[in-house]
Amino acid sequence: MDLSDVAYFKTFVHYFLHFVFPVFIALIFYREHWKKVYLILLATMLVDLDHLFANPIFDPNRGSIGFHFLHSYYAIAVYFLMLFFKGNIRIIGIGLLLHMLTDFQDFYCWNL
Ligand SMILES: [Zn+2]
Repeated sequence: MDLSDVAYFKTFVHYFLHFVFPVFIALIFYREHWKKVYLILLATMLVDLDHLFANPIFDPNRGSIGFHFLHSYYAIAVYFLMLFFKGNIRIIGIGLLLHMLTDFQDFYCWNL
């Protein structure tokens, strides 16, 4: 594998975690309402709106986790606590934690 193959794979993993993985979560854990759950999980991507308060808005050399306020460790602790609630709050918590995991692996797990 040369560098561009790895870069493609990284992009693939990123979009897979954002768009495809939530389908599995919805189907496995919320089969009866999977479409609604999938939409809620997708909607948690709005958490990236906190990037608008940063300058520059996007910097490939900056990890989101621990930088933007909705990506801070305090925020992540709140998302974790949301898992202890029922219904939509838990689903949103799952989506937000998955988002943090996606951002985390995107920045820390690739040697590009
Ligand atoms: Zn993010």
